[in-house]
Amino acid sequence: MNPATPKPKEIDSLQLNPDVRALIARELDAAIESYVSDVPNLRTAPNVTPQEIRALLASYDFSQPVDPSTALHFVIENLRKNQVHAAHPKYFGLFNPSPTTMGIAADTLVAAFNPQLAVWGHNPFSVEVERHLILWLGGLFGYKLAEVDGTFATGGSEANHTALLASLTAAFPDFHQKGLRGLEAQPVFYVSAEGHHSFQKMSRLTGLGSEAIREVPVTDQLQMRTDLLKDQIRKDRQAGLAPFLIVATAGTTNAGAIDPLPEISEIAAKEKLWLHADAAWGGALALSPEYRNLLAGIELADSITFDAHKWLSVPVGAGIFLTRHPDILSRTFHISAAYVPPKAEGPGVIDPIGHSIQWSRRFIGLKVFLSLAVAGWEGYARNIEHMAAMGNELRRKLAAAGWTEIFPNPLPIVCFVDANHPKGKRADYLEAIAREVVSSGEAWISTTKLRRDIPVLRACITNYRTGPDDLQGLVDSLERARTRAAAIRAKN
Ligand SMILES: *Cc1c(COP(=O)(O)O)cnc(C)c1O
Repeated sequence: MNPATPKPKEIDSLQLNPDVRALIARELDAAIESYVSDVPNLRTAPNVTPQEIRALLASYDFSQPVDPSTALHFVIENLRKNQVHAAHPKYFGLFNPSPTTMGIAADTLVAAFNPQLAVWGHNPFSVEVERHLILWLGGLFGYKLAEVDGTFATGGSEANHTALLASLTAAFPDFHQKGLRGLEAQPVFYVSAEGHHSFQKMSRLTGLGSEAIREVPVTDQLQMRTDLLKDQIRKDRQAGLAPFLIVATAGTTNAGAIDPLPEISEIAAKEKLWLHADAAWGGALALSPEYRNLLAGIELADSITFDAHKWLSVPVGAGIFLTRHPDILSRTFHISAAYVPPKAEGPGVIDPIGHSIQWSRRFIGLKVFLSLAVAGWEGYARNIEHMAAMGNELRRKLAAAGWTEIFPNPLPIVCFVDANHPKGKRADYLEAIAREVVSSGEAWISTTKLRRDIPVLRACITNYRTGPDDLQGLVDSLERARTRAAAIRAKN
């Protein structure tokens, strides 16, 4: 036998034989289905140390092949036991979804068919599915169909990174050749003090540095202060700096605040600055006839970040970058390499490789396509409105239990304190309450600081399965935590 020809057994250890594959398919199906039905009864958060997990992993030294069923069960058991379950209806956390069933199906198919979306020619269907979605989503945000362009990304951070690169390309003709060093003035951009911290990271990644970020203070409604935005732009120009971008946040991570989009877009137009709307979470409001008007003005933004793996509930990661400048992505990312297959011809045909940050790329759009195909706009509208209604129901229940909301708003993020308690506005007290709730395993909740220094408990409805009983469950857990905190205080 030619030594280069693999022995059948070696092939088998990767593909496995049909009987084993059938068994694995049944086991996967059972594991997914029992997770979906059992998750409300699991602890919301694990109770485990790094040492315990490392001890479990120690037997996997890969010296002896493990039976596929054994390996699968090991992983399934640990995923059930050792993670925070965003799919739990009492997870009131950080925008992480309970995945749609069609999203799970999509990611399974994507793993099996493994489409490679670098170039159109390799995967005409997959690339066109993503283009189809980009056009529909752009239209949903009010962009003109003839102008819409965009790309799928791993998440909101990559979409925001794309926005930085695109706006630099638009503002500075020399940026591509000479880089930032070739620019005459230091570029600066504006984002509210409640904006997302991915801009900190992406500012470093683009080589702008964190000093390029101008953090604009917010009103007591947590919205960007447009008077101070104008002042800051004027001061920066006077100081010889080069403003190029304003980021408006449509749904802040802390509290769901939406910056005044129409006013900011007027400033951007007057100052000739790119306007990017970071609507990673809040963008989903566009799917609800009841809440859509909260995003009025977003159609004026030059580009938009929208995360399908947040409020659209598809599995991570599914970020989306949209723009109404159809040439900007190609200007930003075009490349030519001899080994890249020849470009396919046709109207609107693009090779994602010259249109976005990634190179080899996964078919991210399929989980959005299949979820949307099956739920329809209407199904999504109902779910988003249900979650908003649960947010309002939670407000009522918290108020009845003596908690005080700090930033009342129509979205399902509730920030609150214990105003009747002497320490009830203090960070250490609120953190102790959150810790009690999380360690009880009954529910998951977190703390944050609004405007940097106002500590609050934060409960966000991130799961379409959350119902009134789950809200009551959270309020009951909070009550127990409050009682325990009082007992600990009495003892000290
Ligand atoms: C979540 C979020 C991001 C970051 O998105 P990832 O998908 O986590 O990378 C950016 N901006 C806002 C407003 C967000 O809520």
